[in-house]
Amino acid sequence: MKLVTSFDQVRQEARGRVGLVPTMGYLHEGHLSLVAAAAEAADTVVVSVFVNPLQFGEEDDLNRYPRDRERDAALASEAGADLVFAPELDAMYPRPPQTLVTVGGVADPLEGERRPGHFRGVATVVTKLLAGIRPQLAFFGRKDAQQLAVIERLVLDLSFPVEIVGMPTVREADGLALSSRNVFLSPAERGAALGISGGLFAAADRAEAGVRSAAELEETARAVMTAVDVEYVEVVDAVEFTRLATVDRQAVLAAAARVGKTRLIDNIGLFPAATGLGSDRGIRLDRPSRLYGAG
Ligand code: AMP
Repeated sequence: MKLVTSFDQVRQEARGRVGLVPTMGYLHEGHLSLVAAAAEAADTVVVSVFVNPLQFGEEDDLNRYPRDRERDAALASEAGADLVFAPELDAMYPRPPQTLVTVGGVADPLEGERRPGHFRGVATVVTKLLAGIRPQLAFFGRKDAQQLAVIERLVLDLSFPVEIVGMPTVREADGLALSSRNVFLSPAERGAALGISGGLFAAADRAEAGVRSAAELEETARAVMTAVDVEYVEVVDAVEFTRLATVDRQAVLAAAARVGKTRLIDNIGLFPAATGLGSDRGIRLDRPSRLYGAG
C-alpha cells in the first residue's frame, strides 16, 4: 500500500480498472466492507481520506471530527487498498472553489433540509475525486442512503463514466449502525442511540407483517426512539427521496436524531410487498467494532 497526497500521484500509480472508496477517515468495518468489495472488483483500489470542510455546516462538528491517518492507512491496507489518497486541504482546494456542484430534487428533503449546503459540499468533492482520479468504479454505503441517491443522480446528470456501487449498512452486534461519530457517545448516550436502529427494525417488522401505511411505520419507529431527539423519521421513495404515503414501491425509512451533541443517521430499505423481499437491514458484526481500539 502506498500513501499519496496529490491527484497526479494517484493517476501515476493506478493500473487497470480503478475502484475508488471515498471516505472522511477514522475507518471502521463499514468503510472496510467497501474496500473489500472494491478489491474484489478492481485492479487498483484507491481509498480517499479527506475531511471535507465544504460539507460541514457546524464548525464544531468539523473541528471535532475524529482523525488518525496512520490508523486509517493501516486498516485500509489490510482490507485491500493499494493507494490511500490523503490530500492536505490545499491539494484538494488550491484556491477557494468558485465552481460548486448543486444537485436538486433528490438532495432537497431530509438531510438537504436540515443541513443546508451539505450535499453541495459532498457533490463538489465527489465530482473532484471522479474527475481527478477517473475511477471505473466507486463504492458508497447505503448507511448514507440519500447521499448514495444524490451521487447516482450526479453521475447520471453529468455523464461521468463510472459505475456507482452501493453496499449494505454494517452494524454493530446490537444493531447500531457503524459511524465514525459513534466514538463520541458516552455509555449512556450509546444506550439511547440504540433506539434509532431499534425503531427502524420495529417498523421493518411491521412492514414485513403487511403494514403499508407510511404514517403507521413512522409512528412505530418513533415510539422506540424515546431517548434521543428525533429530527425526522420518514418513508421516502428510494430513488427520488420524495415522501411516500404508502410503501407501494421501493422505499427507504430514514431517520436522523441527536444524542447529546452527536447527530446520527440511519435507514432501512423497504421493498414493495409484491417482491417478497421484505427489508434491507444491513449486516451485523459478530464482534466489537475496531472503532473502539481492539486492533
Ligand atoms: P464517511 O467516512 O462517513 O464519509 O463514509 C464514507 C463511506 O463509507 C460512505 O460511502 C458511507 O456511506 C460509507 N459508510 C459509512 N458508514 C457505513 C456503514 N456503517 N456501513 C456501510 N457503509 C458505511
